[in-house]
Amino acid sequence: LPRLPVFEAISRHDPDSTVVVHSGSGRRFRYGELLGDVCRTRNCLFEAAGRTDIDGERIAFLVENSYDYVVTLLAILAAKSIAVPLSPAFPAPELQYIMNHSEALVLLSSAKFAQKAQDVLRTELDVEPAYLQLAKLPGGGPHEKVTLEKTKPGGAGMMLYTSGTTNRPKGVLLPQSVMTAQARSLLQAWEYSTSDHLLHVLPLHHIHGTINALFTPLFSGSTIEFLFPFNADAVWKRLAAPFLNPDQTIDPESKSPFGRQEKVTFFTVVPTVYSRLLATHKGLDPDTQSAARTAISPANLRLAISGSAALPTPIKRAWADLSGGNVLLERFGMTEVGMALSCGLDVADRVDGSVGWPLPGVDARLVDVDTHQVIEKGHERDADGRERVGEIQLRGPTIFAEYWRNPEATAREFVDSKDGRGQWFKTGDVAVRRPVETAGKSTLPSQKDWTRGDMYFILGRRSADIIKSGGEKVSALEVEREMLALPQVAEVAVLAVPSGKWGQKVGAVVILDKDHLPDGRWTPLDMRRALKGCLANYKIPQVLKIVDHIPRNAMGKINKKQLVKDIFQ
Ligand code: ATP
Ligand code: MG
Repeated sequence: LPRLPVFEAISRHDPDSTVVVHSGSGRRFRYGELLGDVCRTRNCLFEAAGRTDIDGERIAFLVENSYDYVVTLLAILAAKSIAVPLSPAFPAPELQYIMNHSEALVLLSSAKFAQKAQDVLRTELDVEPAYLQLAKLPGGGPHEKVTLEKTKPGGAGMMLYTSGTTNRPKGVLLPQSVMTAQARSLLQAWEYSTSDHLLHVLPLHHIHGTINALFTPLFSGSTIEFLFPFNADAVWKRLAAPFLNPDQTIDPESKSPFGRQEKVTFFTVVPTVYSRLLATHKGLDPDTQSAARTAISPANLRLAISGSAALPTPIKRAWADLSGGNVLLERFGMTEVGMALSCGLDVADRVDGSVGWPLPGVDARLVDVDTHQVIEKGHERDADGRERVGEIQLRGPTIFAEYWRNPEATAREFVDSKDGRGQWFKTGDVAVRRPVETAGKSTLPSQKDWTRGDMYFILGRRSADIIKSGGEKVSALEVEREMLALPQVAEVAVLAVPSGKWGQKVGAVVILDKDHLPDGRWTPLDMRRALKGCLANYKIPQVLKIVDHIPRNAMGKINKKQLVKDIFQ
């Protein structure tokens, strides 16, 4: 195998330690058998392609979250090709789009998705790919020797498609050097270690599930446990299991293969998953309920992270209450840049509403959305005394290479720097920076060089969350935060609604929390009245609609432009 940093790291880990465990069956796989399986799968790939020179070619794959997924991803990197993970949840036409856009040379699938793969192959494809069904590989056992050769990594990498929240998903090319830089940054910031056990419940075709919860832990020799598809009840039962049978590794009676040695220490999901977990905890039987609380206490669950969308403060508070003080760590990331900003490991560095500081190796700046000037200091005010709002721009080794087959978009989203230290990527997300007295004082060696100075607070997407109403700028995220603090509000999306008079006006779509409506009634007028105390007048939604359901994509995000059209136009 080529000597990629990820392979070097894997070859150094204890061969007997678990790399992957399947949550349902308890089946486990060791670090020592991984590279042998990668090597064999890589060779199958060469065979399917009909040649060994597939440097930089795109290899699409449909594999469930499992050991096989990890092997497949690494085998494609080993072939110096570009891994294009497909979501099994996508319908065939969506997959057809990705196959055509990426011009995949091979489509690989597990046995489970052989039918789905056939459906994709039956659609009209611009380039007819070879098909490979993942074979059961004769295993070499945990002590198989695999040599790592000193060759160039070539075009090895991954192509992930953005969540498609604002538009058609864009293909983001992440060379393996970028993937590695992203992993190294997180390894330092979040201190992954061999004793970490991650419970993985995320889709694997997005950066969050792939880099944070799979690629990075491979570097640290942690264990990744796949529980898929996500099911809140199953997650609680799994978390609780080691505390219900504390004394043994495997208890056939309890039907859980997990003892105290395999408690979950690391969990990273999107806000909607925390909210579902909080809602289902109440319905567990009393023993599981209390074991689950123990399982998520700070002493057991070392790190619980939230990201991919803004974390509502009530969810953060409710989780801390339930767990006896486990404060969720919020971070900000994108397909194009991996993780860029993060709160710190010290609890004091997890400030409500903030996504923290630029991660190690990430260079960040805020550029004023009106004047295009760089905002140097957090507490700068504009001429009217308002906080200066800027777009987050990023550079450094963690930033993607290009939008696949879209040089115009690539050119549009990068700006030249004057200091000759590389171009800045325009994230399209808008933020303010504020000094926070109580934060940024960590003495942990891993935190010292980056958790310092003003903290970032995300206001939302420039295109959808910054509402320009009669000369004022309103952050949809800020209004959402205040509305969610009302006990009557269960979910909310704040939107820019076109208005003849104001340009745009602030609109809101709300799901009410039935448990908090004493007489079952709560009108938009009541809501506006309740918001008077916490929001300036011009920020209070002028149009409000109460609904039963707000559509979200697989990452729990809302396409706001679509929602405005559906509800208000
Ligand atoms: P598309 O680019 O296709 O419209 P997308 O931007 O949702 O979809 P992703 O790359 O998965 O695709 O998501 C990145 C975006 O998620 C960021 O640009 C930001 O708007 C949002 N985001 C991520 N983390 C946070 C956070 N902690 N708080 C607020 N927003 C966040
Ligand atoms: Mg995006």
